[in-house]
Amino acid sequence: MLAPYAVTDAESRGRRHPEETTRYRGEFQRDRDRIVHSAAFRRLEYKTQVFVNHEGDMFRTRLTHSIEVAQIGRSVARVLELNEDLTEAVALAHDLGHTPFGHAGQEALNHCMREWGGFEHNLQSLRVVDELEQRYAEFPGLNLTFETREGILKHCSRQHARELGELGERFLHNRQPSLEAQLANLADEIAYNNHDVDDGLRAGLITLEQLEEVTLFARHHREVRERYPRLEGRRVVHEIVRRMINQQVVDLIEASRQRLAGSGVADVAAVRARSAPLIGFSPPMQEENRQLKRFLREKMYRHHRVHRMAVKARRIVTALFSEFMSDPALLPEESREMALQEERSQGEAGRARAVADYIAGMTDRFAIAEYERLFDPHVT
Ligand code: MG
Repeated sequence: MLAPYAVTDAESRGRRHPEETTRYRGEFQRDRDRIVHSAAFRRLEYKTQVFVNHEGDMFRTRLTHSIEVAQIGRSVARVLELNEDLTEAVALAHDLGHTPFGHAGQEALNHCMREWGGFEHNLQSLRVVDELEQRYAEFPGLNLTFETREGILKHCSRQHARELGELGERFLHNRQPSLEAQLANLADEIAYNNHDVDDGLRAGLITLEQLEEVTLFARHHREVRERYPRLEGRRVVHEIVRRMINQQVVDLIEASRQRLAGSGVADVAAVRARSAPLIGFSPPMQEENRQLKRFLREKMYRHHRVHRMAVKARRIVTALFSEFMSDPALLPEESREMALQEERSQGEAGRARAVADYIAGMTDRFAIAEYERLFDPHVT
């Protein structure tokens, strides 16, 4: 049972390389399955957002984060009668292009690539599924549907949008992607804000007392204390976080449903033609969510321990880039071949792109090991 404005297989704009349909799976199920079987997906296990992978097994990785995003996305999609398979595919693929070391790694690589078009992780996620995965005889990449690719490309600079053709058009004309893509984006936000609270508390980067200034947190904290006065430790935190997630999800469902009903959209084309998204929080929840994000930015992402790791990450990514860039013979064979090939067709920018692809594909621990192999005479 899908709503008229949901994406369906029949209305899909299809794949870049046409393929025959299969007997037992829909198009977006196939997309999801291709993503789950990709090498980039497996590497998400050892990539992080705020923490570095070796800091502890208790923290989220990009893999568990992506699964949480898919869970939230699917729950909401089912209620709103949107395409669950498409929502799940976008959710599982949304972080595939992330560099090692989260935002610090991404900023460093973007800086390294400044003369050659920069580095954007959303664009890289698309590059992973369009070009870099090597799994099929008949095409490079995973050859996903337009709709999954549209959802993966959450943001994009105008300059890159112009080079992307059909997929870039909405960024130039201020249009929207499908509701499933809008939903995956919000599910991402709900997932990471809440798990950053959870992981941040566990890591001792933030405290319950500090979180009292966050309205959403304070409200649920009070409720949990009143209802379970004797509850202690981790269970207090988990009880608060699960209530925060639940309230945000319920708000998202109800506010989106209301907005959809009021908009009169009858199909995907009408959704795409709009200048603002239809999936989103109610205004009061939007404000509370903004407050939570502001808190995390100020208290957690700028915490000296996070900052220290970010500085180290920047040093590692920058050093790797400059070494490989000045001497591509240091690259392992497959990446070296790629660098030579890209350089023949696009000159220095091609070499730089191949080096960026190699670094972006690294997990946190691989990047650290590669750095040691290049700079530490005792490590081979
Ligand atoms: Mg994410």
